[in-house]
Amino acid sequence: LCMMEKFEPVLTPEELKAKLPEWPYFIIDLYHWDRHTQKEKGKICLQVSQSYGLLRDYFTGRELAVTWANDEFKSMFHGPIGRITTYAGPTADFLKEKGIDEVVLLDPWAEEVLSEKDFDVGAFIIGGIVDTGGNKKKTTPKIGEELERAGIRVRRRKIVLKGDIVGVPDRINRILGIILKMMVEGKSMDEAVYEFQ
Ligand code: SAM
Repeated sequence: LCMMEKFEPVLTPEELKAKLPEWPYFIIDLYHWDRHTQKEKGKICLQVSQSYGLLRDYFTGRELAVTWANDEFKSMFHGPIGRITTYAGPTADFLKEKGIDEVVLLDPWAEEVLSEKDFDVGAFIIGGIVDTGGNKKKTTPKIGEELERAGIRVRRRKIVLKGDIVGVPDRINRILGIILKMMVEGKSMDEAVYEFQ
């Protein structure tokens, strides 16, 4: 049986580009930056760096955008700041500049589960939120409300393992990794989640 194991070729950048007519942005939204302790801010920075590393495996890294990126974030970020896209203003303004009017917001509180039908949007948004104190409950939906107020259409989608968000890692970089496994390698959600557990 193991001889029949699926061979998974890594796509060349050209093949990838053909598969995805326009590469989406993966946005880490720092709307809730000021609600974090210094230690948590450090963790956000680390997870952004790790997200860049993951994206580099598939894309160029530029597709990683960090919005609401203030001077404190830039000074605390030890990754290659010049190789990602940082935007100091609101996420909605960034999207409008890029001509994107509909996004997928990764949200553990969403009703609908992320599926391949969602892979046609111009941007995926992950909350730049780290939970250590338990004081940031339901902060992700607020990011969606803020975008909708600014006229962006938001598909709120959750990632689940066997139907439940329990068991899904909530680190920013792991959420990104799960999406990439599904989108680029065609893995099922359960398989992708297992790989990042
Ligand atoms: N405290 C936040 C809340 O209650 O909304 C959760 C923050 S979580 C540590 C960081 C980000 O990872 C979220 O903003 C969301 O974008 C993403 N995320 C975490 N778990 C997820 C899941 N099961 N499905 C979709 N997105 C998830």
